[in-house]
Amino acid sequence: MIPNNFEYHRATSVDDALTLMAKHGMDAKLLAGGHSLLPAMKLRLNQPGVLIDIGRIDELRYIKKEGNELVIGAGATHDDIAHSEVARNTLSMLSEAADLIGDVQVRNKGTLGGSLAHADPAADWPAVMIAAKANIELKGTNGSRTVAADDFFTGFFMTALEDNEIITAIRIPAPPKGARSAYQKFMQPASRFAIVGCAAMVTLDGGECREVSVAFTGLSDAAFRASNVEAALKGKKPTEENIAAAVQAAGEGVMPMSDHFASEEYRLHLARVYAKRALMAATQ
Ligand SMILES: Cc1cc2nc3c(=O)[nH]c(=O)nc-3n(C[C@H](O)[C@H](O)[C@H](O)COP(=O)(O)OP(=O)(O)OC[C@H]3O[C@@H](n4cnc5c(N)ncnc54)[C@H](O)[C@@H]3O)c2cc1C
Repeated sequence: MIPNNFEYHRATSVDDALTLMAKHGMDAKLLAGGHSLLPAMKLRLNQPGVLIDIGRIDELRYIKKEGNELVIGAGATHDDIAHSEVARNTLSMLSEAADLIGDVQVRNKGTLGGSLAHADPAADWPAVMIAAKANIELKGTNGSRTVAADDFFTGFFMTALEDNEIITAIRIPAPPKGARSAYQKFMQPASRFAIVGCAAMVTLDGGECREVSVAFTGLSDAAFRASNVEAALKGKKPTEENIAAAVQAAGEGVMPMSDHFASEEYRLHLARVYAKRALMAATQ
């Protein structure tokens, strides 16, 4: 349980972190809350020679409204989001998901940026950010760019992040008027990671589902948008029967994971159950 030796540098700003990354190259890893990286280092699954600590950069830790967007700094902790009134008022699934992550220590230190960069297939934030139609802001030595959450998670612990880039912020567009959201998960009882989690955002208009946004985590190798479920509910009344029928499409077109926590069949079953719960909670 003791990691390999490493050098430690504490970055004072995003630009300072980028300079340190350029200097140390592939041997360096960013350290935010440390709740994914440090366990991996102790298990020697990850053995960086240099850690660049970005966990105390104030410019990365905020949650604010900016024009029509909610902007969350990558360094905001799960606990910051759980207790943010502006986040809760924008989309309640943000605080619901934050509240369900790990335990108090994990929520106090773990960050939104760290969770998205790590892209654990069982992590909660990826599904929530896809359902919220968030955009992820990245800064690198060659400039800044924005990637839609839909395109960010590319596979098992894989993202669109380049080696020389830092996630700086997550931008969530103001949801349409009348939009409501919910996040529901079946959790691993020890870690509270999602065996399957579902985030849903629905906009009702004249008693019908005008816009539907649904995303899953835990079901396959990366979080993904459930376009089939969305299409099956769009334009329909959010009755229990219609929702139960729509969630039958959960998992279509993806390869469900199977491990010692849950088989492929059980995960598919959970996906339907938890999608129904999330959609019912968002619409009733
Ligand atoms: C006991 C336990 C229970 C947990 N339960 C849950 C749970 O229920 N749900 C859940 O979703 N997660 C859970 N987690 C994971 C937790 O949420 C982590 O905090 C999170 O996955 C990583 O965030 P971090 O800030 O700790 O990142 P770190 O561990 O510091 O870093 C993780 C990775 O992201 C990179 N990184 C960090 N910040 C940035 C950035 N701004 N830009 C680019 N790269 C960056 C690092 O280089 C590293 O590769 C749990 C962890 C533990 C230890």
